[in-house]
Amino acid sequence: MAQLLYNSTRNSNETVTASTAVLKGLADDGGLFVPECIPQLDVSMDALGDMSYGEVAYEVMKLFLTDYTKEELQSCIAGAYDQKFDTQEIAPIEQVGGMQHLELFHGPTIAFKDMALSILPYLLTTAARKNDVGQDIVILTATSGDTGKAALAGFADVPGTRIIVFYPKGGVSRIQELQMITQGGDNTAVVSISGNFDHAQTGVKQLFEDKELAKELSDAGFVFSSANSINIGRLVPQVVYYVYACAKLKKNGVLCDGDVLNVAVPTGNFGNILAAYYAKQMGAPIGKLVCASNENKVLYDFLSTGEYDKNRPFILTSSPSMDILVSSNLERLIYEAAGRDAEMTKELMGSLKEQGRYEISGSMKEKLRDFIGGYATEKETGDAISSLYEKTGYVMDTHTAVARAVAQKKLEEGEIENPVMVVSTASPYKFAPSVCAAIEETEKMADEFSLVERLHELSHVAVPEAVRKLQDAQILHERHCTPQQMKEIVKGILGV
Ligand SMILES: *Cc1c(COP(=O)(O)O)cnc(C)c1O
Repeated sequence: MAQLLYNSTRNSNETVTASTAVLKGLADDGGLFVPECIPQLDVSMDALGDMSYGEVAYEVMKLFLTDYTKEELQSCIAGAYDQKFDTQEIAPIEQVGGMQHLELFHGPTIAFKDMALSILPYLLTTAARKNDVGQDIVILTATSGDTGKAALAGFADVPGTRIIVFYPKGGVSRIQELQMITQGGDNTAVVSISGNFDHAQTGVKQLFEDKELAKELSDAGFVFSSANSINIGRLVPQVVYYVYACAKLKKNGVLCDGDVLNVAVPTGNFGNILAAYYAKQMGAPIGKLVCASNENKVLYDFLSTGEYDKNRPFILTSSPSMDILVSSNLERLIYEAAGRDAEMTKELMGSLKEQGRYEISGSMKEKLRDFIGGYATEKETGDAISSLYEKTGYVMDTHTAVARAVAQKKLEEGEIENPVMVVSTASPYKFAPSVCAAIEETEKMADEFSLVERLHELSHVAVPEAVRKLQDAQILHERHCTPQQMKEIVKGILGV
């Protein structure tokens, strides 16, 4: 099979192999790695419908990660999608109140980030071996709450790696924070920063682009990589569950021959929905991509007007993992919409950096017609949770609720038709206070864990181990800094 190479969204002339792209995370010019073309599925949906999650994962990933051998990929997949997940299906689909819910929260940290971050450490260490990287890989990650824990869990005590996670103090749920600051492992560090997620993400990007720092680290035997969804090693495993879902829905008759599946994705950094777009380009029967935002509706405004403008207040919502104004992965879509024009992409991203805004042309906007933007207010999100609960007894988390609320509106407005699949990105237990408050009156100061118990009474779903064990876990990380101090903190942690 021919090699699939990757180039930066800001320079199409230099190409690297898949394993190098995984290792580097971000291209040297600050762009994101994209495959030179989107490969086509070479197995039928019917054949995929009979496969296990791991088998589908292989069929998809082999097409993107062509310099990994079959044995390497299969061993990465086997290590990732095992009993860490509480169901053999890995990504089960529930039919609830007329829509399909693709549940991506059955992994060890009960959010969809596990789908990619349980395999990324394997992909990365395999890539290091293949490329004779002698240095320790330092994973630097900014998190809006869920990536941090999933990355920590994936990389804890993985030989040859260190991981440093930055999260916005006060910008994540208490359960999310506890999950991170109680993380064990000799190679892990967790730092809260004053500021919001965008500050954390920008800070991390600056560290990546800091040539001086790279040299100092290299001399000390370290090299940076990223576990954020800018890493192609995270995006590719996310394409898998869309292909898997289409194949399963076809097999169980929800999706008939010639039908397409409309998907509604609760969106923050644009990684998850971009994976759906890649799956569609590969030949999966996907129709519209509903990009659902919370009150930080910069993507909704962009898809409606063609202007991306992050100059606006940052709102803290009950869906904190989507509280983002700079959606990194959108750069990959912009590159596609620009007809893979790296110069144009570079210009637009430059304008985003300098002025906080950019505008795309009418012909570029035309290429985004598969995407439908929408957003849900805090009230609509809460109402979606309570009405679905009253109708069916099913409890969804706040992020999933944003997508469901938007999908409902788009169905009513006739912008999409059934079948619709809502991508369910977190367990409601991760956001128990907000979810309980949507369903019934709760005491304002009620303790997080009593609300977990209450949610159990309401939903009859077992409390996940990931939450139960937090109650008396020891706090192991207490570092804090400002965005300006991130560089010093990193050097301190690594002893450079
Ligand atoms: C990260 C996250 C999102 C947003 O996903 P993106 O890929 O960043 O768009 C939505 N919901 C939950 C629960 C998340 O953790």
